[in-house]
Amino acid sequence: MGEMLSLEKTWGAVMAGMKINVSEATFNAYLRHTELTGMGETGERWICEVGCGSGYIKSVLEQRYYGQLTEELKRVTGKVCEIKFGVTGKSLSTKINERSGTEELPLFETKKGDGAGRKMRLKGDYTFENFAVGGSNQMAYAAAQAVAKNPGGAYNPLFIYGGVGVGKTHLMQAIGHKLLEKEEERILFCSAEEFTNDLVEGIKNKTTEKVRAKYRKVKLLMIDDVQFIAGRATVQEEFFHTFNAIVGEAGQVVMTSDRPPAEIAKLEERLRSRFGAGMIVDVGPADLELRTAILLIKAKQRGWELPAGVARIMAENIAGLRELEGFLIRLETEAEMRKEEISEGLVEKILNVTRPTNGQAKIITPTEVFNLISGFYGVGVQQLKGDKRTRTIAWPRQILMYLLRTELKLPQEEVGRLVGGRDHSTVIHATEKVALVLQKDQVVHNQIDQLKRKLLISG
Ligand code: ADP
Ligand code: MG
Repeated sequence: MGEMLSLEKTWGAVMAGMKINVSEATFNAYLRHTELTGMGETGERWICEVGCGSGYIKSVLEQRYYGQLTEELKRVTGKVCEIKFGVTGKSLSTKINERSGTEELPLFETKKGDGAGRKMRLKGDYTFENFAVGGSNQMAYAAAQAVAKNPGGAYNPLFIYGGVGVGKTHLMQAIGHKLLEKEEERILFCSAEEFTNDLVEGIKNKTTEKVRAKYRKVKLLMIDDVQFIAGRATVQEEFFHTFNAIVGEAGQVVMTSDRPPAEIAKLEERLRSRFGAGMIVDVGPADLELRTAILLIKAKQRGWELPAGVARIMAENIAGLRELEGFLIRLETEAEMRKEEISEGLVEKILNVTRPTNGQAKIITPTEVFNLISGFYGVGVQQLKGDKRTRTIAWPRQILMYLLRTELKLPQEEVGRLVGGRDHSTVIHATEKVALVLQKDQVVHNQIDQLKRKLLISG
């Protein structure tokens, strides 16, 4: 393999892989604060030293992500590695971002004069400037711009819906960035799942008032994947009042969802009508031109000029934007390891390896399946990975495992690992059970058909 990749590059590639495997929240909470501090050979084995931002992060990584990290390390370096975790005690977020050529805002932004720190997590590169516009997102883009220009104005709330990975979160956060530029700091971005958890915690710890104050005092509230609150009475009630409080103070609410309000089942009527009171826009899957343009933007952010022909081939072969991004990162690593220039030939080579036997080049990632199941059944990704065994969670989880096994053809162990570190026998049981029910129950049969179709056309 010639000379070693630098520690930083190696870890960058490992993190890029992890980003696809874990939720954004997990990544930001734990993995972002790590660095590879050393790598050496002792006898037969390779030992990697990984520095963590805190003792807590260290223990989480040791317990939950050891397997995934060693696998990624193996993929990147070609070596079987053992990891020794240490505590370096510093937040490494700036370092990581220097490397990827994008800057990220601090994880927690504290507003002056406000005792309670205001959480705000916008991705640094999710700006209007980095957003490519095409037929599929033109309307949504225009609406988002209008909202950024005049928050609390005519388009209130702004409701953006569309499939997985079409750019909804990016567009929503771009509004946040614009307001920050205008020195408006009363901004809050969170997923509906986080909103829910926050509220549940608040009720449990009798701090509901505090939670309320946090959400109601903002000028711009951005709720990602709002469909998640459907079917949850308390949360919907609370959200209704939050919504009214913000709009009542001329604040702006922006939401994203995987479907329009009218199609969100178990959504309270008063919320449905509120959601539709402003502007509803959809974002469709990006066409070839747009995918190419987005790739060029993403490459530029990483500091390289991607030849247009190369971008084109990638865009022709891969339909999902997240997969395209994943592929871009992979391309960088592969070029480095093979000591080859990035060329159309290299892309073809990697694509041929990746292309499934059925000739379809749509690469479905586990994350997509997680998001699909989460959206379809209204169960959070963390719940799917968690331990709760109530039927409303356990059944979607079993279907998730089934799809990961049968559609992505992942090994049992891998599926178990992805779904919260479960035993492979659990995976076998789940897969068999779903296969059985599938034969007997027409409703389930149709659901799974629908899920499979969604997987193939999403992105
Ligand atoms: P969604 O929230 O709809 O699932 P995301 O906003 O997470 O999708 O977008 C997935 C990825 O694709 C992100 O990296 C995002 O920056 C990128 N992306 C999507 N649409 C565009 C676009 N029009 N221009 C630039 N990047 C885009
Ligand atoms: Mg999103």
